[in-house]
Amino acid sequence: MWHLSRHCSGKHHFHAIALVTIHEPWGADRVGTSMSSHIEFRKLAAELDGPAFLPGEPGYDAECATYNLLTPLRPAIAVGAATVGDVRAAVRFAGDHKLAVAVRGGGHMQPYTAEGAVLITLDRLADVTVDGGRRTARVTGGARWEEVIDAASKEGLAPMSGSSTTVGAIGYVLGGGQSPIFGRPYGYASDHVTSFDIVTADGVLRTVSAGAEPELFAALRGGKGNFGVVTAMEIELFPVTSVLAGGIYFPGSATGEVLRAWRDWAATLPEQATTSVAVQRLPPVEELPEPLRGAHVVHLRYAYLGPAETGLELLAPMRAAAPALIDTIAEAPYKTAAVLHNDPVGAMPYQDRSLGLAGLPDKALDKLAELLGPGTPIPLTSVELRALGGALDRPPATPDSVPSRGLPFQFFGFAVGGDDLDELGRRLDRLFTAMRPWADPKHRRMLNFLSPEEALDPQSLREVYGAENYDRLLAVKRRFDPNTMFRMNHTLR
Ligand SMILES: Cc1cc2nc3c(=O)[nH]c(=O)nc-3n(C[C@H](O)[C@H](O)[C@H](O)COP(=O)(O)OP(=O)(O)OC[C@H]3O[C@@H](n4cnc5c(N)ncnc54)[C@H](O)[C@@H]3O)c2cc1C
Repeated sequence: MWHLSRHCSGKHHFHAIALVTIHEPWGADRVGTSMSSHIEFRKLAAELDGPAFLPGEPGYDAECATYNLLTPLRPAIAVGAATVGDVRAAVRFAGDHKLAVAVRGGGHMQPYTAEGAVLITLDRLADVTVDGGRRTARVTGGARWEEVIDAASKEGLAPMSGSSTTVGAIGYVLGGGQSPIFGRPYGYASDHVTSFDIVTADGVLRTVSAGAEPELFAALRGGKGNFGVVTAMEIELFPVTSVLAGGIYFPGSATGEVLRAWRDWAATLPEQATTSVAVQRLPPVEELPEPLRGAHVVHLRYAYLGPAETGLELLAPMRAAAPALIDTIAEAPYKTAAVLHNDPVGAMPYQDRSLGLAGLPDKALDKLAELLGPGTPIPLTSVELRALGGALDRPPATPDSVPSRGLPFQFFGFAVGGDDLDELGRRLDRLFTAMRPWADPKHRRMLNFLSPEEALDPQSLREVYGAENYDRLLAVKRRFDPNTMFRMNHTLR
């Protein structure tokens, strides 16, 4: 694992704190005088099992922390929900005072700053209960994939986790959830949810499934946080204990040939195999082994859900594509296999962009190699292509809202920086503009990879969902959140 948090400049931390301390107390302008607001806040705090914080109070900054240090949360109130009752009380409070509600689960992709809102954090409400006989797990609040994996592995089972096991399980599933191991064999993680518990804008706790509130159930699977606070979900688990998975790091000097070999090879793979490739500038940190420390590399990722021998035979063309710096592909317990992307673990300031690609003709790969290959000192941290297809293309057993079915490739890039973040953002923009000629004409993209700018722009959200899907989601939103209380997210408007 990288520990890119070392890249965070102290200056950024300081900047975040300064913004918090000058912030007005919890939207007092909207809810009455500051004095009466404080009385109301104390009443709410007394009702809760968990803590609540106002800006400037000890504990507020920690409660508002997220993975991206560039966008610190600055809510009017932060409620650390310890029970479903706390979530309901916080939502009712927000409703009474006409405040927006923001939700932090695992904190891995906040597209807003939650300014003036009631932030509900779910770390204290984070539990996993596995039913080995039914092969299901009940996952609550802010539980992260690593907790689900730990609980499931005790029963010889595994969940459809994503590339980072510190991501919140519910946040991931609400955006579909593309697993680098289970994706092509079994589809999106949201295809394997059997029910959600959700507190809607009226403060009511509802259990929704294919048989109970089916429209809301369909909207939640791909519609992100638009409909309420999801306090629990039940998911299917798979009888998997070990997997053939890992990566091959090639030198950046081989960018062009590796990208072409990967494109041709990925097209031949059966559905049991899932792969992605990333051109990376790795940080010069001790946690990385010597050939990777500070290196420019092309990182092939590969997983095969089936007999290891078959998976290794399929891998042979890529092992021959170029001399490897490091090859970690081997059969491993699911917990180890699950982190095959080696995503950075610690919080960091970064910019990101995403695009769905319809194909990767030679010209597209040449453009990528020109912009990211040898001799290009562009310090973009990681630029990745995920090959989709397989079961990710098929509709689920019950209707849903995932907008990326049928999309051949997901393109994603992020840049970690300090004072140079604006410049890095402009470089990402140039790279993504250069790849636009190969963008998916239907504008499909994986919801979970939208950058804050993309997620907050109603027009791009409408394009990503497509008019029909968007209007259907909007109808559900109007029914369950008529005043757009949940607008600190990928907001349907
Ligand atoms: C390093 C990294 C790797 C990733 N890898 C993958 C991957 O392989 N596949 C993939 O599909 N995605 C991936 N993602 C994207 C990730 O799934 C999303 O960012 C997801 O939203 C993170 O959930 P969270 O709870 O950690 O984030 P948070 O920042 O807490 O939540 C993000 C948003 O989700 C909504 N939300 C979260 N929890 C709830 C809830 N309980 N109720 C209502 N709304 C909620 C809210 O709108 C919130 O604003 C990755 C992200 C990162 C940073």
